[in-house]
Amino acid sequence: MVITRYDLSRSELAELLEGEPNYRVDQVWDGIHSQHRDPADLTNVPKELRSAIETLLPAALTPLREVSSDNGGTVKQLWQLNDGHLLESVLMHYRDRSTVCVSSQAGCAMACSFCATGQIGFDRHLTTGEIVEQVIRAAQHSGDKRVSNVVFMGMGEPLANFDNVWSAVERINGDIGIGARKITISTVGVVPGIERLTQQSLPVSLAVSLHAANDKTRNHLAPINRTYPLRKLAEALQNYRRAKNRRISLEWAMMSEINDTDDAARELGAFARPLNAHVNLIPLNPTPGYSNSASRPDSIVRFRDLLESFGVNATIRSNRGTEIDAACGQLRAEQTVTVSKRSKH
Ligand code: SAH
Repeated sequence: MVITRYDLSRSELAELLEGEPNYRVDQVWDGIHSQHRDPADLTNVPKELRSAIETLLPAALTPLREVSSDNGGTVKQLWQLNDGHLLESVLMHYRDRSTVCVSSQAGCAMACSFCATGQIGFDRHLTTGEIVEQVIRAAQHSGDKRVSNVVFMGMGEPLANFDNVWSAVERINGDIGIGARKITISTVGVVPGIERLTQQSLPVSLAVSLHAANDKTRNHLAPINRTYPLRKLAEALQNYRRAKNRRISLEWAMMSEINDTDDAARELGAFARPLNAHVNLIPLNPTPGYSNSASRPDSIVRFRDLLESFGVNATIRSNRGTEIDAACGQLRAEQTVTVSKRSKH
């Protein structure tokens, strides 16, 4: 596979630029990371070196399409990787800052029935460089607005691609300069991944896509639950919380009659309370392969109020980007036109 611009560590870059003084390596490294520059724009670096870097370290992401909604506040970017696979990332602008939602895999193997990415299946893991570059491209796109938050809520299951995701996290934190707490890893509940996360020193934020708090319903919605049932998940989360002293978020996509009943609220309450977790309620977004409808707005409010009455903190997440299929669970990196794979020599 082609090594791309952000796949190298700093020492690997130094090796590649062998013969160049240390300060040059710093200029290049800081330029492409903390200053989000393309090699061609590293004006403090001699021209020949700039073009050498461009050739030696090609970009990982070729832009194919960009669509926006919410008056430009939500931007979905479709990228092609060097081997032809596709992925999407989503940029959400707020008043004075932006959040980027990045993908960790092309496709996803978790097969959650209601999620568009799960419906298409798994293509491959993304490399560290392919993940980091999504953040850089977002920062370039945001201009004056600082990208202050990174959420691993795009395509794929980040904890199923732990090593690459974790080196990307370290790079996003240490070299791009985004605080660990402003980096959120969202998982469907890959318990060994949560256990590994517990061992790491960077205190990233953890979100868990729960959607059901009884095994029967959860087995059906998120098949990974058959491997790591709720009891195991709760134990791993309890350990994470004790080790990190961080509040965990539980994501709950609200589906009419499936998980929006009073019983479901009681089950969720019983799961969330011992964890002191925060619950995010997301109205189910439509996807091609799942016909069940979203909960009615009044059922969502009732559900939220019930949770609050059990002493569980809950918020209803405002949905962004639904009309451009950029909202939670809608990413499927679909192409309307066929683009030929890049020729390789
Ligand atoms: N695999 C990870 C990262 C993806 S995050 C995870 O599952 O957490 C995408 C979020 O959108 C998850 O919380 C997912 O459960 C949620 N989601 C998936 N399909 C959805 C849909 N149709 N409507 C609303 N949320 C959905």
